[in-house]
This record gives sequence, C-alpha cells and structure tokens, in this order.
Amino acid sequence: MELKRYRTLNSYFKEKFGCRVHKVALDAGFTCPNRDGTKGIGGCIYCNFAGSGTGAYKKSISITEQMKEGMNYLGKRFKAEKFIAYFQSFSNTYGRDLKEKYDESLVDKRVVGLSIGTRPDCINDDIIDLLVNYQNKGYMVWLEMGLQSIHKRTLEFINRHHSCEDFLFALRKTKEKGIPVCVHIIFGLPGESFEEMIETATFLAHLSIDGIKFHNLYVIKETPLENLWKEGKYRPLEQEEYVNIICEALIRLPEDTVIQRLTGDPAKNELVAPHWSLDKKGTLQLIEELLLKKNLWQGKFYFKP
Ligand code: SF4
Repeated sequence: MELKRYRTLNSYFKEKFGCRVHKVALDAGFTCPNRDGTKGIGGCIYCNFAGSGTGAYKKSISITEQMKEGMNYLGKRFKAEKFIAYFQSFSNTYGRDLKEKYDESLVDKRVVGLSIGTRPDCINDDIIDLLVNYQNKGYMVWLEMGLQSIHKRTLEFINRHHSCEDFLFALRKTKEKGIPVCVHIIFGLPGESFEEMIETATFLAHLSIDGIKFHNLYVIKETPLENLWKEGKYRPLEQEEYVNIICEALIRLPEDTVIQRLTGDPAKNELVAPHWSLDKKGTLQLIEELLLKKNLWQGKFYFKP
C-alpha cells in the first residue's frame, strides 16, 4: 500500500465510508453577486462566463442528468461506489430554490453527501440551517469557501469584492453549526510574493478549517487576466515555483486538514497559459518528489487507499 505525506481526500472518504467515494461536479444554474452587479460586475479577473465550472446548465443538462452521467462515468473510471454532489459553478448559496436544487442532486442512495461551493459573503443563518438539515438526515455536508488570498491588496486587484474579514465571519458562523469548511486558495495571484502566499497558508493553519483546495492561477480565454497576460503585466508561476510553494504550505497545515486539491484543472480548450497546468499528473509527481527530497510531510504519513 502506497504512503502519502499529506491527508488526501480519498483517504478521508475511505475512513468515513469504507469505500471509494467521488465528487460529481455540478452546474446548477446559479449566478454570482460579483457578476450580477450586487457586489461587482465582470467577476474575478480570472473567471470566465462559465463561472469556474462545467457550463452544463447552459447546455440544458438538468442536475439529475449531470448526477447520473457523473456517477456512471466515475463509477466506471475509478470504481467509485458512493458519490458527493458537488455544487461547483458560480456561487451555490446565492439565489432562490436552493433546497429544490440540492434535493434534486440526491438521485439515489449512492449519493451520500453535498459539497457546496460559494463565496464568504453568500452565507447566512438560513443557509447554514438548511445545510444542517441535510446533515441531520445523515448526509455528509461540506461548505467550500473561496478565499483565494488573505491579502487586501490582492483581493482588490483580482476584483473579488469581499474581504478576509467576510471570510472569518462566515467561517465562524458555519463552524458554530458544525458544518465542515474547505477553503479554496490560489497561488500565483498577480503581485504576490512567495512570503505572502505562505502567509495565507499559515493564517489558515491557525484557524479551524477542515479542508483546503490549492489552485495555481492560470490564464483562461476571455478574461481580464488574459488581457493582462497579453500586455506582459502578468507572469504565471513556473511549475517548479508552484511545487515549491505547495510543499512549504502543506507542511504548515495541521495533520488532520484534508487536502482536497493540490493543483488547478483547466479545460484544455480554454487555457491560454501556463501550459504546464495541463500536466496535473506531472505536478503531483513533482510535489511527491520534493516532499521526499526535503523529507517534509504534513504531520504524519497516510495510507493511499
Ligand atoms: S466569485 Fe467565483 S463565480 Fe463569482 S466571479 Fe469570482 S470566480 Fe467567478
């Protein structure tokens, strides 16, 4: 059995369910307050019209169909036996009909949980109570919150229209009700130094977060970031730089933090730069090698299921 130097999502699911569990990424047709004018217009500088998601809803593929197709594919490809409905695109606690949409994803008994991706400024007591209801029915429920960076200058530059204080407020409220929180952060944001990226990871290490997703910033078509890149005003991280930052961030996190993602996953036809972003396997391999070379680990060794 292979050993991992950090707590993977697969090993966490195996501990909880005793079998292979996979998330099914969904586009439920939500929007985002940073696009509809409530908070901002145009969105974050790296986000395209699909809201960092699959674009399935615009193709009129219902939540039920997305779930069934996803389960079928993931069952065959990874031998997954159970599934988590992952509301990924846009801000999935923003809008009406939340309950109807979440309910629709629970297509059969193989769906054992919900993971809801959103912004820190789209959380309130009613939403948290709704999530608690699913938890009380026996579903695993996670909230995935996009923070990206703790640095005010960065958040302003990338047009996030929320603050680190918004994040802390939402985290406290969610955790008070016993909902686990996975935080999304991005390395390689414009103007951020190595030290600033590590500060974001260290800051989170001292909070009660349950999971984390790391992304490398990549440039996709039809975004403001693409214009900056074309004008030479933005340089993406090199693969080696990113791998080094990830390793330094990983070892700062408590050993029980679930590492849900270590690198971004751009659509090939949307990617502008850097091309190494498509080499997910290679990036993960380099992370393993550097952890081994530097003899670093998150807290203890984990078995890879
Ligand atoms: S908050 Fe998410 S969906 Fe909204 S603009 Fe930013 S990346 Fe896109």
